[in-house]
Amino acid sequence: MTMASDVAMVEEVLEKGCLQRDDLVRLLAAGEEESRAIFRRAAAVKKGCVGNKAYFRGLIEYSNRCVKNCLYCGIRSGNANFTRYEMTEAETLHAARFAWESRYASIVLQAGERTDEAFAAKIEDLIRKIQEETRGELHITLSLGEQSPETYERWRRAGAHRYLLRIEVSNPALYGRLHPGDGRHSHAERLRALGDLRRLGYQVGTGVMIGLPFQTVEDLADDLLFFRDYDIDMVGMGPYIEHPDTPLYRHRGDIPPLGERFQLSLRMVALLRIMMKDINIAATTAMQAIDPMGREKALRAGANVLMPNLTPVKYRSDYLLYENKPCIHEEAEACKFCLESRILSVGDVIAYGEWGDSRHYAERNGVGAN
Ligand code: SAH
Ligand code: SF4
Repeated sequence: MTMASDVAMVEEVLEKGCLQRDDLVRLLAAGEEESRAIFRRAAAVKKGCVGNKAYFRGLIEYSNRCVKNCLYCGIRSGNANFTRYEMTEAETLHAARFAWESRYASIVLQAGERTDEAFAAKIEDLIRKIQEETRGELHITLSLGEQSPETYERWRRAGAHRYLLRIEVSNPALYGRLHPGDGRHSHAERLRALGDLRRLGYQVGTGVMIGLPFQTVEDLADDLLFFRDYDIDMVGMGPYIEHPDTPLYRHRGDIPPLGERFQLSLRMVALLRIMMKDINIAATTAMQAIDPMGREKALRAGANVLMPNLTPVKYRSDYLLYENKPCIHEEAEACKFCLESRILSVGDVIAYGEWGDSRHYAERNGVGAN
């Protein structure tokens, strides 16, 4: 079969109203030419449905203390090879103010997982103070792992709007292989947490890692179907990148090379845009860790959200979830200008001062999107 007919066949599959599992498996395994056809289609869908606006979410990596021990993550509790930190209140408020003054309109407060009362109270207090300092104009997204419904509710009442909790992988058996069997890491609990967040009125974002040991193309197709079945509003997904101080590192020979993981991630982004036309999809930092133009390529493939890093530089080298994390020496100001020119280079515009709720969320809830 010639390459041209492969491309024609891909285009035919993409014409279908609703992609099925078999279609997704085929498309995820596409070669270079066929991938270009997928990216073209995703770009057209993006243009027609969410336009060329890119939304900023200023990322504050609040603390690297974590009670969990995920087998892939560099800041897992079992890794003693770096210094644990927690940002001070003044540093956190300063970062939030920077986002507000730069008209980012939205921040993400992310950290390792902690479920003690002192942590819950501290976050609640910070949410209130950020709201006060920024006159309620800054949207707050939390990415603080699994919590009790009471804690989620408390943070929501304090003024948090959105929550990011990646399911990591939608296949429970695979989840079991990527986490220790110590009773603290449960796929069912993670699903429970996502349900609680939705019920409490958060805009819920989830996501997966791509190119993990033991992960198949079928698993990735199921991840895309999971997002669709779950009717998710926002997705942040990116390549798995190994970290030497983690147990999963020993499987680094069993996974696709970085370049392939990157291409696979781009196809995941593009297919998701084709499947879920009006959701928010992030161009994740892990994409840029592999390819210096990674985030631009993700924008071209259908992403519409970027997360400039606002963490003080002195902490960045201690928040290494994976190897070769980019921008660890760049202050927020420098990040801002660098990202701005990157976005303009792909023909998108930055939606300064707009919250950028996904149209999907707005329509599901019967309100106009800002
Ligand atoms: N502790 C919170 C938030 C911080 S971790 C939580 O786990 O939800 C944020 C994300 O980093 C995780 O969801 C995971 O998908 C990603 N991550 C961790 N280790 C990674 C690695 N080695 N490669 C790529 N992404 C990784
Ligand atoms: Fe902790 Fe999140 Fe890393 Fe798991 S992925 S070890 S919960 S920071």
